[in-house]
Amino acid sequence: MSQANWAGNYTYRANRLHRPSRLEQVQEIVVNASRVRVLGSRHSFSGIADSSELLSLDGLPAEVVVDHAAGTVSFSAGLRYGELAEALRAEGVALANLASLPHISVAGAVATATHGSGDANGNLATAVAGLEIVTSSGELLTASRGDADFDGLVVGLGALGAVTRITLDVEPAYQVRQRVFEGLAWSALLEHFDEITSAGYSVSVFTRWSEAIDQVWVKGRVTDAPERARGDLFGAIAATVERHPILGLDPVNCSPQLGVPGLWSDRLPHFRMGFTPSSGQELQSEYLVPRRHAAAAIQALRGLAEVVRPVLQVSELRTVAADRLWMSTQYRQDTTAIHFTWKPEPDAVQRALVEVEAALQPMEARPHWGKLFLAGAEAIAPLYQRLPDFTRLVDRLDPRGAFGNAWLDTHVLGRR
Ligand SMILES: Cc1cc2nc3c(=O)[nH]c(=O)nc-3n(C[C@H](O)[C@H](O)[C@H](O)COP(=O)(O)OP(=O)(O)OC[C@H]3O[C@@H](n4cnc5c(N)ncnc54)[C@H](O)[C@@H]3O)c2cc1C
Repeated sequence: MSQANWAGNYTYRANRLHRPSRLEQVQEIVVNASRVRVLGSRHSFSGIADSSELLSLDGLPAEVVVDHAAGTVSFSAGLRYGELAEALRAEGVALANLASLPHISVAGAVATATHGSGDANGNLATAVAGLEIVTSSGELLTASRGDADFDGLVVGLGALGAVTRITLDVEPAYQVRQRVFEGLAWSALLEHFDEITSAGYSVSVFTRWSEAIDQVWVKGRVTDAPERARGDLFGAIAATVERHPILGLDPVNCSPQLGVPGLWSDRLPHFRMGFTPSSGQELQSEYLVPRRHAAAAIQALRGLAEVVRPVLQVSELRTVAADRLWMSTQYRQDTTAIHFTWKPEPDAVQRALVEVEAALQPMEARPHWGKLFLAGAEAIAPLYQRLPDFTRLVDRLDPRGAFGNAWLDTHVLGRR
């Protein structure tokens, strides 16, 4: 099929891409395939989604159903957040959080514990209230929050089956305003870390690991109380013009700033809904460190600035709340997410990652499942208390290993 991922750094080896339009076809394809995986919106940076046959679910009818009484929305799993947000707008409801851009498929994001930011906000998988999964026997499994093993099913890494329908929690629609603060001193971030990350509903710190921190993006929910006007944030000055996270780039595609209120879905992502990122001239990695190690991790990386900076476009620091999902990068720990948007230079990125992972290893850093990392299953195992339970779940739901792949063997299951 010769298709590449969004970033163009991975070409899928699969020899077939199925695009079913009905659930029964999904079941038939899965039963007849010796190895198959669902391909989401191809935003991961590795072979995580690859297999000998691939299944795209974007041809299934969206069937978005909002249950106002239950506070949920159910929809076909191939939907992207941007498409879902459009449907939710019409119903006057909202999701609690979003990632940096709306073009990612919901099922793919949930499968890898994709997250936004916010001290009190869990990752996007924590919004999952129910799932329908076609397992390798072709059976349709339905599971809801509270059911046995549900916490193991949600961040499934694509290994448990094809998720065909998802139910997410929703809440009444709300408005958000964002402001950008520039030139934060490292000493201010380290001394006031908790005050800075709680300065808004969702806070992102952008840095190139140079003398000062470039920008802090503070997204606040609009309430009836007037906005507490703020000219500075611990010495960082409020921008008077719109900014792009990468200093010097045109902010035309960024979500509106300068405190102008707008719908949640138009402010929580850094980039505008209507804008489709072009070719993806970047690679990405991210490490989730327990929040208690945030300062040590930041200091360790500042010490690697000379290694990281030549291949870096920008880093983003976010915070994500703890959850109970077995393979979540937030499993039972509040985390600080340290993200790297790299230049598209795979060999140089690989060399930098050797040093980054060595520096972060003492801080129990969990790599983002969907981004580039080096750690193998042996290094990953001690980080995930419920990995043995997850492995049992994989073996129970997929005894013939139809949803297995090389990425899973290398980085998670440790099988050859
Ligand atoms: C530009 C860009 C911005 C990003 N921003 C963020 C961010 O802000 N925060 C963050 O945490 N991450 C971010 N990511 C990472 C991204 O969210 C994850 O890599 C995510 O998994 C991509 O989802 P996808 O639908 O593209 O999945 P794919 O890359 O296509 O697949 C990922 C995994 O999901 C599985 N999968 C997909 N659909 C299904 C299904 N229906 N059933 C079972 N398994 C399925 C696949 O088999 C595979 O294992 C970003 C990536 C890019 C390229």
